[in-house]
Amino acid sequence: MYSAQFDYYRANSVQEAVQLLQAHPGAKLLAGGHSLLPQMKLRVAQPPAVIDISRVGELAGVTLNGDSLRIGAGTTHNTLASSAVIKEHCPIVAEAAALIGDQQVRNRGTIGGSLAHADPAADLPTVMLALGATLTVLGPHGTRDIAAADFFKDLFTTALEVDEVLTAITVRAYGSGTGGAYTKHDHPASGYAVVGAAAIVMVSGGVCTGASLAIGGATSNPVSATAAAAALKGQAPSAANIAAAADKVVEAITDPLSDYYASAEYRAHLATVLAKRALTSAAKRAGG
Ligand SMILES: Cc1cc2nc3c(=O)[nH]c(=O)nc-3n(C[C@H](O)[C@H](O)[C@H](O)COP(=O)(O)OP(=O)(O)OC[C@H]3O[C@@H](n4cnc5c(N)ncnc54)[C@H](O)[C@@H]3O)c2cc1C
Repeated sequence: MYSAQFDYYRANSVQEAVQLLQAHPGAKLLAGGHSLLPQMKLRVAQPPAVIDISRVGELAGVTLNGDSLRIGAGTTHNTLASSAVIKEHCPIVAEAAALIGDQQVRNRGTIGGSLAHADPAADLPTVMLALGATLTVLGPHGTRDIAAADFFKDLFTTALEVDEVLTAITVRAYGSGTGGAYTKHDHPASGYAVVGAAAIVMVSGGVCTGASLAIGGATSNPVSATAAAAALKGQAPSAANIAAAADKVVEAITDPLSDYYASAEYRAHLATVLAKRALTSAAKRAGG
C-alpha cells in the first residue's frame, strides 16, 4: 500500500527541525524511517508533512565526556553496535543494538527514532531504562532533560511534546566492577523482542553492591524490576541468589501484554527466565 500524500521538508539543524514542527502542525520527524514509513504505508500514520532529520550532522555520533557518554539521537544502531567507545565504556548498548532487526534496519534505524517511537517490543528503551539514561530534547521553549524512567509513558507514548526533537541520550560509563547484559526472546518473523531483559550489576569483594534491571516487551512500556534488583544488593551473585532475585521480576509485570504469539502468562514467565540470564551474565562480566 502507498502512503497518503504528504509534504516533505529537510531540516539542516535541530533548531530548524523545531521551527518546521511548529510551522506544520501534525508533521512527523523522519530519522531512519524504519518505523515511520511502515506506519505511513499502512496508513496508521498520515502526517500532512514529514521533516527529514536524517542529515542533521549535530544529531549523530558518540562522545565520551568524563564519566558519561553522549549519544546523538541520530546515531544509527549499526554505529552503536560497532563503536569502540561504546564497546569500551557502555558495552550493553552495543550488545543490544547488534540484536536489532537485520543489517539493513541497523544501517538506517536510529536510537532517537527507536526511543521516540516507544514500541513496547523495541530493545533500546529497555536498555536505557536499566542504565538510568537522561534524554535531552529541544523544543520551542529550549532544552529539557528527561529521565528514561519518566520518558516512556505507555504503548507508543512518550513524554515528548509534538514540537520537540530528541537530541541526545546521556548514559554513565561503567565504573570498575560493573557488568551489563541484554538478552531477549526475539519474534521469529521480525526480530523484535517478545520480551527483553537488561541488567547492570556492580560487584565488589564478591558481593553485589548495586543492580538495576529493566524488562521490555512484557508490558506496554518498559519497566524497572526494582524489587528484583534490590533483592540482589548485598548478596553474593550466586546462582541461587540470582534465581531468587529473578523470581521477584513478576512484581513489576502488573499488566502483561498478550497476543497470538505470546500470552500474558508466557510473557511473565519469559521475563523471569531472561532476567535470570541477564543478571547472571552481567554479574559474571562485573567479575562476580
Ligand atoms: C524489519 C524490521 C525489524 C525491526 N526489528 C527491530 C528489533 O529487533 N528491535 C528494535 O528495537 N527495533 C526494531 N525495528 C525498528 C527499528 O529499530 C527502527 O529503526 C526504530 O524503531 C525507529 O528508528 P528510526 O530512526 O527508523 O525512526 P523513524 O522511523 O524515522 O521514526 C520513528 C518515530 O520516531 C520519531 N522520531 C524519530 N527521530 C526523532 C527524534 N530525534 N526526536 C523526536 N522524534 C523522533 C518519528 O517522528 C517517528 O514518529 C525493526 C524495524 C523493521 C522495519
